Amino acid sequence: MSRAFNFSAGPAMLPDEVLERARAEMLDYRGTGMSVMEMSHRGSTFMEIAARAEADLRELMGIGEDYAVLFLQGGATSQFAMVPLNLLGDKATADYINTGQWSKKAIAEGRRYCEVRVAASTEASGFTTCPGPEALDLNPQAAYVHYTPNETIGGVEFPYVPETGEVPLVADMSSTILSRPVDVSRFGLIYAGAQKNIGPAGLTLVVVRRDLIREPRAGTPTMFAYRTHADAGSMYNTPPTYAWYLAGLVFQWLKAQGGLEAMAEINRRKAEKLYAAIDGSDFYHNPVDPACRSWMNVPFTLADPGLDATFLREAEAAGLKTLKGHRSVGGMRASLYNAMPEAGVDALVAFMADFERRHG
Ligand SMILES: *Cc1c(COP(=O)(O)O)cnc(C)c1O
Repeated sequence: MSRAFNFSAGPAMLPDEVLERARAEMLDYRGTGMSVMEMSHRGSTFMEIAARAEADLRELMGIGEDYAVLFLQGGATSQFAMVPLNLLGDKATADYINTGQWSKKAIAEGRRYCEVRVAASTEASGFTTCPGPEALDLNPQAAYVHYTPNETIGGVEFPYVPETGEVPLVADMSSTILSRPVDVSRFGLIYAGAQKNIGPAGLTLVVVRRDLIREPRAGTPTMFAYRTHADAGSMYNTPPTYAWYLAGLVFQWLKAQGGLEAMAEINRRKAEKLYAAIDGSDFYHNPVDPACRSWMNVPFTLADPGLDATFLREAEAAGLKTLKGHRSVGGMRASLYNAMPEAGVDALVAFMADFERRHG
């Protein structure tokens, strides 16, 4: 068996230790004679797995009791609708910060339900930067401010958390959650699809301040109301039990690594190594403003795009997989989520130097 270094933007790598533990527990979870995916979600065994996962996540992120943690389905994409449906209340307008492809999708969905004010946009830069705090034109009457702390496609990450005063801040943290500590109390709501930095696809995490869980807009489907899931402990219907269990194993793994401070240290180092390799050569290029470069998703291009296919083929043969850039950006993209070992980045950097020597 050989494990590749998989640089996919999502679904992405999971830690070997987590997969091995899942394998060991696959056929007979702790003497129950069944796999976690075969169990009732209402049985005591799964209830314990679920509670432990939530408790570990709360500890890792420092989530206070004034926040609910919801384990949902539907992906981050469903949150583009759930957020306005539940948070607009009697307001008709919300602020959105536009920093790239994922912001744009959230904005397009938001427009179905309210007047979207774009509080800042970096589109003129080709989405290669993030707006500074002084560039945010915020409406104090907005129902909420939505932003994307890390744009997975553009590789742009906010180095700060926007200050929005009394207006709740909503963050699509799909590709940056758990990569470093965050002060959860700054946010009204945080959501993330699991398949980047949490666990397998099929689970969507929502952390929401309890006072924001209120009557949704008239006509909202029961399954699209936060209240439904908060009142039922995320078990109004059958939750994604196996994904929830695997996320729990990832949370235990993160705690064993030393928590989010330790992960941040490793993630910063991994990203710095790759950016140094890119910046130190005329052969590779990353277009993003250095102040807003993502630790998690690093797009880069070759001076000669005619070499892209060769680069990808040779990288694949060297065990460095899924480096092809997003179709809207081209070139390459290396995603360096928590489960990507530092050795994977070292191997990529060495491969890039060797490739440049042979083709540069
Ligand atoms: C991947 C991603 C999404 C989409 O997530 P799904 O779970 O596939 O709906 C949304 N926002 C960001 C920032 C992402 O990286």
